[in-house]
Amino acid sequence: MTGIAEVGAALQHARRVLLASHVPPDGDGLGAGLALVRWLRDRGRHAVFAAGGGVQGCLGFLYREDEVDRSPAGPDGDFDVVVSLDAASRARLGGLKARFAAAPLVVNIDHHATNEGFGHVNWVDPDASSTGEMVYRLLGHLEATLTAGIAEPLYIAIVTDTGRFGFSNTTPAVHEMAAALIEAGVRPERITSEVYRSVPPSWLRLVGLAIDGMSIHAEGRLACVTATEEMIARSGADPLDVGDLVDIPISVAGVEVGVLFRPAGPDRTKVSLRSRAVFPVHTFAARFGGGGHPRAAGATLDEPIDSARELVLDALTEAVERDVPAGDRGAGA
Ligand code: AMP
Ligand code: MN
Ligand code: MN
Repeated sequence: MTGIAEVGAALQHARRVLLASHVPPDGDGLGAGLALVRWLRDRGRHAVFAAGGGVQGCLGFLYREDEVDRSPAGPDGDFDVVVSLDAASRARLGGLKARFAAAPLVVNIDHHATNEGFGHVNWVDPDASSTGEMVYRLLGHLEATLTAGIAEPLYIAIVTDTGRFGFSNTTPAVHEMAAALIEAGVRPERITSEVYRSVPPSWLRLVGLAIDGMSIHAEGRLACVTATEEMIARSGADPLDVGDLVDIPISVAGVEVGVLFRPAGPDRTKVSLRSRAVFPVHTFAARFGGGGHPRAAGATLDEPIDSARELVLDALTEAVERDVPAGDRGAGA
């Protein structure tokens, strides 16, 4: 494992840089990447972020069209350095993974403890709240000027990965960083308005359908939501937004683990897991070939949604009943 100095040196000498995150990117991966795109461009380098197919609409305000390439396999042309942000494995880069297997210099920046170290230069810090926090430290190390254009995507990265400064990764360093970013010109109310108060009505229709179908297990300690192809089509919601439904089951009183099942292609199902305080969802996800963090994890199964749901929900109910002490607050009826 290497660190910040090696990553800094690799970027200082880079001329044409391709940056990417897991597919689709979230606020952390995209925010960390855009900050670096802008720093590199300010220095006269060629830099572009590859989003491998698309970006959620709520993040669309963050970038200019020329900064992000949304084609599935990334932009044409040669790059002397490729940078992976917030992706624990090359597989998570989706259609971009071939680019990362073939590139002359691969830089891997991430905060997942399970990171596979697939870069030539790997900087992995599981104590960082977000990849955005790591890029902020990197830019400090490089003595970069924190322009408003660099500060805004970094702010999005920490806001989204800390659950709006609400999860256990919200450290003093996160708040110090937020303070510096606001000093640099970030307007928090603009972020709230653009990211959290801009949902299309079709999304709320899907939320309604999902809540209608929610089920409670393990005596109220586990809640499950499923979004089928049919529900997504009926609501008209953007498939890129469907993953956000995982916030619903974990918000129920007394629930320790929330799970979401959604389609991930023909006969493939994506499982997203969240936990409140004690249940390590990344260890559970690893049983199905996935991974993540103790409080947020996921896995993709080669099963249609009904059988994936049965398989995972049985195992999860058993694990939660065994490992999570019954609380004194039920989930309510
Ligand atoms: P998600 O539920 O997709 O928001 O993902 C939550 C966390 O779980 C992410 O930060 C990833 O680290 C991890 N994760 C999600 N899907 C997978 C997967 N298929 N394989 C490994 N890790 C995953
Ligand atoms: Mn992420
Ligand atoms: Mn992250």
